[in-house]
Amino acid sequence: MPGYNTHRIFNYIIFIAAVLAVYYSGILHLSPVQLLVIGLGFYIGTEFVTPDLDIDSSAYKRWGRLRFLMLPYKWLFKHRQSSHNIFYGAIVRILYITAIIAALYYLIFKSLPLENILFPVHIIIFLVGIIAANALHVILDGIF
Ligand SMILES: [Zn+2]
Repeated sequence: MPGYNTHRIFNYIIFIAAVLAVYYSGILHLSPVQLLVIGLGFYIGTEFVTPDLDIDSSAYKRWGRLRFLMLPYKWLFKHRQSSHNIFYGAIVRILYITAIIAALYYLIFKSLPLENILFPVHIIIFLVGIIAANALHVILDGIF
């Protein structure tokens, strides 16, 4: 089973190669802001919102004092089962964290943040970054 750093190195090499391939092939034009947003999503997906949140992993520990928020996730998902599904594993994690953020937002502001989402395109690009990072994690787990 590849360790946390192996996953990180693999993810960043593939990400940089993919960005260069997309840039030089001209298939897709990403603005600097869009590139920054997908890079941020990919970083979050590689470092924090990984499939290995289902165990006492380095990614889980990186949540620091907030790691208690991931406890229910760890209890709900057995290691390397649905959390490591290449299609809905990342979606479930994103929904899980979105629910926590929405609940905190509601507790503080007594309303939901829906009307404050100004750039839905950037949110989608950000989520694509997380999903791509999680997919690479599952692929590397499948190789080793
Ligand atoms: Zn894994």
